[in-house]
Amino acid sequence: MGESRSLEISTLSFPFSKPPPMGELVEVRPGILWTQFPLPFALDHVNVYLLKDEYGWAVVDAGIGDARTRGIWRSLLSGPLRGEVLTRIIITHFHPDHIGRARWLIDEFSLPLYMSRSEYLYNLVLHRNAADIISVYHDFYERRGLDSAKAEAILQAGHDYVNWTEPVPSTYYCVAGGETLRIGNRAFEVITGGGHSWEQIMLYDRADNVIIVADQVLPKISPNISVVASEPDNDPLAVFLETNQTLADRVHSGALALPGHRLPFFGLHQRIAELAAHHDDRCKELIAACMDRPMDPAELVPILFFSGMDMQQTSFAFGEIVAHLNYLKRRGLLAEVEEDSTIKFTAQGCRNETRCSSPSPWRADVPSAMWKLGRLQ
Ligand SMILES: [Zn+2]
Ligand SMILES: [Zn+2]
Repeated sequence: MGESRSLEISTLSFPFSKPPPMGELVEVRPGILWTQFPLPFALDHVNVYLLKDEYGWAVVDAGIGDARTRGIWRSLLSGPLRGEVLTRIIITHFHPDHIGRARWLIDEFSLPLYMSRSEYLYNLVLHRNAADIISVYHDFYERRGLDSAKAEAILQAGHDYVNWTEPVPSTYYCVAGGETLRIGNRAFEVITGGGHSWEQIMLYDRADNVIIVADQVLPKISPNISVVASEPDNDPLAVFLETNQTLADRVHSGALALPGHRLPFFGLHQRIAELAAHHDDRCKELIAACMDRPMDPAELVPILFFSGMDMQQTSFAFGEIVAHLNYLKRRGLLAEVEEDSTIKFTAQGCRNETRCSSPSPWRADVPSAMWKLGRLQ
C-alpha cells in the first residue's frame, strides 16, 4: 500500500500525463508494459508491469484479490494480450494490493512465483496466525491509548485486508538482493529494502536506466511506514531511510522510476530527499507535541494526520506514529513512560539541542543525501 497525506510541491517530471485506462496497456519502454488495476480503498489503484520475456511476458505484481481484478486480467488476456503467454510472476511485496490476485494467476497459468524470502514468509504468517495476530494487535492499540471500540473497528478493517489475499504456493523462486534477474534481453539488478515492507524487491535495468521501484519511493504520496504489533519496538523508519540511501547510491539520478502507485516519474533522487525532509518535519512536530506532558500515540494521530480517515487509513496512521516515536526513542530524542498502563512519550529530560528549531538535517545541495541519523544528535 502507498498512503499518507499528499506532500508539497515537487518538480518531478512525469513522461505520461495520465494512467492507462483500466484494461489497457501502455508501453513505457520497449518491452515494458504498464497497466493499472482498481482498489477498493481511498488509494484507488495499483500499477502492474509486464516485462518482455523470452517466450512471453513476466508479470510484476498482480493487483488485489477481488473479482474486479480477476475480470480485468481476463479482459487483458483476451484483448491486448490475446495470443501471448505469461511466463512467471514476480511479487514485489506481501501487501494485498500487490500479491492479492497472484495465487489465481499462478494456478490458472502454471506460473512460477518469484519473491524475496521475507515477503513470502510473511504472507504465510498472516494466513496461519490470523486469530492470534488479532489479539496481539488489540493489546498493541489499547496499550497505546486507543479505545477498545476503535481498536475493534480497525481490526475488522485489517481482517478484510488479509482476506484480499491468498496463501502463496509451497514452492517459489527466492529472489535475493544483489542478484541479477535476466528477463528477455534485459538484465535487472535486484535491490531489496525495508521500512514500507520487509524485503521489498526493486528491479533496476542499468543499461536502459529504468527501475521498478514498487512502493519504496512514490511520487506525491509518502509510502506508509508502520510498526506492526508483532514487533512493537521495531524501527522501520530507520530501515526505510537507509534503503532510500542505498537507492540513491546505486541508481542513476536520471533513471525512469516505475512506482507501485501513481505515475512513472523522473527525479528519483529528488523524491528521496523530499521524503527524508518530510519525515524530518514529522519527527520535529512529534517532539514539539511531547514537550509539555507525556502523550500517547492515539493522542498524537490528529497532530500529523487529517481527521475523517477511514479505519484502514487510521490503522496506517497509528502504525506510522509509532514508527516515528520508536525512531525518536532509539535516538534519545523522546523517552517512553508508562502511565495508568498506557505507553506514552515525553521530550522532557531528552537531549534538547535537537528541538524543532534545528535546521533541516538533509542537505539539499547533494541530491543523494539522506537524513544522516547522527546529525540530529
Ligand atoms: Zn505496499
Ligand atoms: Zn501498494
